[in-house]
Formats: sequence, structure tokens, C-alpha cells
Amino acid sequence: MAHMERTLTIIKPDAVRNAHTGAILEKIECAGFKIVALKMMQLSTRQAECFYVEHIHKPFYHELIGYMTASPVVVAVLEKEDAVEDYRRLVGHTSPQRAESGTLRALYGKDVTQNAVHASDSIVSSQRECSFFFSDSEMI
Ligand code: GDP
Repeated sequence: MAHMERTLTIIKPDAVRNAHTGAILEKIECAGFKIVALKMMQLSTRQAECFYVEHIHKPFYHELIGYMTASPVVVAVLEKEDAVEDYRRLVGHTSPQRAESGTLRALYGKDVTQNAVHASDSIVSSQRECSFFFSDSEMI
């Protein structure tokens, strides 16, 4: 059975810098997601390290932190039935080269680090990630 869910997306620095924010938000809305919170911000190193703490021992961790803090991002909370799984599908594979055509990473990603967008990978992480960036009163 379908459940109304919320998921977090980050439009990552490469996509914001390359002026893809509007196109990505349009695709998100056209796919049936409701934007319930939205802001542009510059992540501090500390924020990026906390957000990606599960990857702390991965070889790409420092590259990831450097990339995510290089320039502003746009963060948003999206609502839809089965939002977590459906948004992962819209975003596509971590590597844009392996992402299905039409997915956000296939359209706007450059490589496995600069892959245009973040999507929560489970309901538990979506809850942590939404409240990482937004207070309850900021989520409509
Ligand atoms: P996601 O859930 O598809 O975003 O992938 P992960 O949670 O595994 O990784 C988080 C982010 O780290 C990805 O979106 C990429 O920006 C980056 N990343 C993941 N795997 C690699 C890798 O093998 N090499 C590099 N350089 N970056 C990676």
C-alpha cells in the first residue's frame, strides 16, 4: 500500500553553478512531488561532515566534503506517496554514466562525485536528513 512520505533532496554545487536548479525543480514537480520546504545555502565543512558521517571511512569522503562545500546548494523537502523510493528512481544511479536515461543524474550529473542531486536512501534517513536542514515550522 502507498504511504504519504517525505524525502530530502540537495541540488548539489555543480548543478546549481551550471544553472540547472530551475530545470531540476520543474522535473521534480512534474513527477508529482510537492515541495514542502526549500532554501539555498552554503554548507560549512562541519555541516557536510555531519550530514555524510556514514561515509567517514570511505576513500572518497574528503573529496565529497570538498565538493559539497565548494559553492551553494539548494535543499528541499519533497512530499508524495512513496516519495523515498520514487525519488531515488527519478534521481538514478550514483554514477551518471550508469543512470537510466531521463533520470536527473543522467541529465545533469558529470561523474560519480559531481552527480547533481542527493536523494535520501530510506525512510529513516529521510527523517534525519529533513530535520538536519529544516525545523518543523519550516516544513509546510
Ligand atoms: P547516493 O545515495 O547515490 O548519493 O550514493 P552514496 O550514499 O553511496 O554516496 C554519497 C555521495 O558520495 C554520492 O552521491 C557521490 O556524490 C559520492 N560518491 C559515492 N560513491 C563514490 C565513489 O565511488 N567515488 C567518489 N569520488 N564519490 C562517490
